[in-house]
Amino acid sequence: MKRVLITGAAGFLGSHLCDRFIKEGFHVIGMDNLITGDLKNIEHLFKLEHFEFYHHDVSKFVHVSGKLDYILHFASPASPIDYLKIPIQTLKVGSLGTHNLLGLAKAKKARILIASTSEVYGDPLVHPQTEDYYGNVNTIGPRGVYDEAKRFQESITMAYHRFHGLETRIVRIFNTYGPRMRLNDGRVIPAFMGQALRGEDLTVFGDGSQTRSFCYVDDQVEGIYRLLFSDYASPVNIGNPNEISIKDFAEEIIKLTGTDQKIIYKELPKDDPMQRQPNIDLAKNLLGWEPQVQRQEGMKKTFDYFKELNEEELFRSEH
Ligand code: NAD
Ligand code: UDP
Repeated sequence: MKRVLITGAAGFLGSHLCDRFIKEGFHVIGMDNLITGDLKNIEHLFKLEHFEFYHHDVSKFVHVSGKLDYILHFASPASPIDYLKIPIQTLKVGSLGTHNLLGLAKAKKARILIASTSEVYGDPLVHPQTEDYYGNVNTIGPRGVYDEAKRFQESITMAYHRFHGLETRIVRIFNTYGPRMRLNDGRVIPAFMGQALRGEDLTVFGDGSQTRSFCYVDDQVEGIYRLLFSDYASPVNIGNPNEISIKDFAEEIIKLTGTDQKIIYKELPKDDPMQRQPNIDLAKNLLGWEPQVQRQEGMKKTFDYFKELNEEELFRSEH
């Protein structure tokens, strides 16, 4: 039986990846320090013989007994609110954490896939973003702690690939959403849906003309799965190219949720990228992958998940 280590296992993407690898017949070892994750996301796996979980900070030395075939490094705060609140941990998990996991992969002769991000493109001057674009990141801005950690993560991963011959994969993930996002993580989808459910106005930052392209989690997991089993070591964009302005998106959410609240405007956070859309030609050609889930369908599934949360979860403002 193949054994896979998934870091960030109790988080949004990590927990969906655990489900997928269990379904595919792997022995899954989950690891998480729960700084932004929640055991609730994986508690259904605890009873399974082929799932193990370790509560551990991967920025510290990582030990796993026995053989390992694959490592998926997904541990990292991912929402701007989280990484502004815990900037040093964010830098550490992207740098020291990645170094530890590359070292583990080398020792175990495992293939490693690391979760990078569209944020490596910063506030992009090339649109849509192709993998050969070097990006436009403000190193010392508030978002720099995340963006630069991820850029370093890519560099050290390629160095292990070139210098040690390690089998590495890099996925550049564009905004992904779905069930198990934390309602209060500050990202736009849980923010708007939470506001609709609590009967609050929807807060659009800036004038709402900035754009994003939202990918449903099942599509993202499929892309990651295919990339892991490809033989391509350089970064690959995985995301949904269907782009929308945040203002239009707020209006869509108002329709979807049936809320009678309105849109209010707040200050645009510093260095908030103005536009973002993946060019996915590489993923299409290399992996035969493209997104299958339309935004309307994915948003409905996500809202159905949030609707099931209890009052305490709905009104909890701090994680
Ligand atoms: P998340 O916050 O839901 O999950 C991250 C998980 O990592 C959490 O469970 C957290 O507790 C854990 N973690 C953080 N630091 C850790 C540490 N030092 N040791 C062990 N565990 C730690 O976020 P997510 O959306 O699931 O993101 C997962 C990964 O995907 C991240 O690396 C993120 O940068 C990347 N990513 C996500 C998106 C997206 O749209 N969701 C976009 C780009 C990149
Ligand atoms: N945003 C917003 N209102 C909110 C939360 C976010 O208008 O309550 C905007 C945010 O400024 C950004 C976009 O929505 O332009 C996406 O933000 P998110 O935090 O989801 O992701 P990222 O900026 O990392 O793409």
